[in-house]
Amino acid sequence: MKKIVCLFVAGLFFAGSLSAQTLVQGTIENAPQHAAYTPSFKVDGSNRSIRNIILMIGDGTGLAQIAAGLYSNGGALTVTNLQTMGLVKTQSADAYTTDSAASGTAYATGHKTLNYAVGVDTEGRPLRNIPEILADYGIISGVITTDAMTGATPSSFYAHQPNRSMTPEIWADLPGSSLTFFAAGSEESFRKQSEQTRQAIQEAFTLVHSLQDVPAGTDKLGYLPPKAEVRSFREGRGDFLPATTRYGLDYLASRVQRRKGFFMMVEGARIDKSCHANEYAPAVLEMLDFDQAVEQAIRFAEADGHTLVIITADHETGGLSLQETGDPSQGNTGGRFVTGGHTPIPVPLFAYGPGSQFFRGIQENDEVGRKIIWLLTGKKQ
Ligand SMILES: [Zn+2]
Repeated sequence: MKKIVCLFVAGLFFAGSLSAQTLVQGTIENAPQHAAYTPSFKVDGSNRSIRNIILMIGDGTGLAQIAAGLYSNGGALTVTNLQTMGLVKTQSADAYTTDSAASGTAYATGHKTLNYAVGVDTEGRPLRNIPEILADYGIISGVITTDAMTGATPSSFYAHQPNRSMTPEIWADLPGSSLTFFAAGSEESFRKQSEQTRQAIQEAFTLVHSLQDVPAGTDKLGYLPPKAEVRSFREGRGDFLPATTRYGLDYLASRVQRRKGFFMMVEGARIDKSCHANEYAPAVLEMLDFDQAVEQAIRFAEADGHTLVIITADHETGGLSLQETGDPSQGNTGGRFVTGGHTPIPVPLFAYGPGSQFFRGIQENDEVGRKIIWLLTGKKQ
């Protein structure tokens, strides 16, 4: 009995010292608040035909990250104004806790794979991604991210490499991809690639460093703004993500052939990066910026009536919880992180538009990918 008591006390001591070492706290005061948009819900959850799907991935965005944004924004966000919700389980084929490459690949191909793998299966064989599958049906695709174009999430939608760290090989997969539009903060990385890779990308896409410079009649467009314009939100990124989301959606809509439709993936990449660094205030700013990109997608869907928007995450980062005290009306909130890595907690999914009803309940991340393919092609994977 004595031994059991001692073990219990030792356990308490261990648990106490562990939390004291790993809990990192942060606060935000007077967060810059924006008006949350509420759509009409007229075609939400209906069986109306779906022409376009917009998949928005908040990298590292669990419920606490959304709640941090919600309360810092005075108690309302566009994403939390939506009515259809589900949860997504994010485990990879070989790990309880996924990385962005394995989860991105699950969304992009409808198949789970190994951590660090990009667009390949557990044996390293290429998996067809959504843009490639949709191209067979005449449906065009695009990718927008606040990360580099070779970040794990965007790469999953065009590249096939066994490891996310293979930056030159991932760049080299871009010209042969099925993308019609991309926008990413990686001009510097692009310039470091071989002459051959840069030339191939420039032959496949019209590359611009500003959206003011897009020539008329462009078939395939790549937008690589100067690095200074795609920093973190705190360092002055400005409206790159919401503005480029709006531009990209209009661009794809203008290139659609015979009412076929499009697929767009939009990633808010730096929610994850802030949570890895256990930086609460920057994470909130990234979340608020991502919500304004969500607004652009929802407004597009609202006007179009045949567009489904899915907003979810690849995994949670940081094990974030919220502090007990705060004042949402003033944009004052605080949070605590328990890890500098990812967690296996299921992530929320929000959906708006025709077909949103298929994303209710608890589902695996690869199921979400397969549902997207099914809804746009009518074929089950
Ligand atoms: Zn991460």
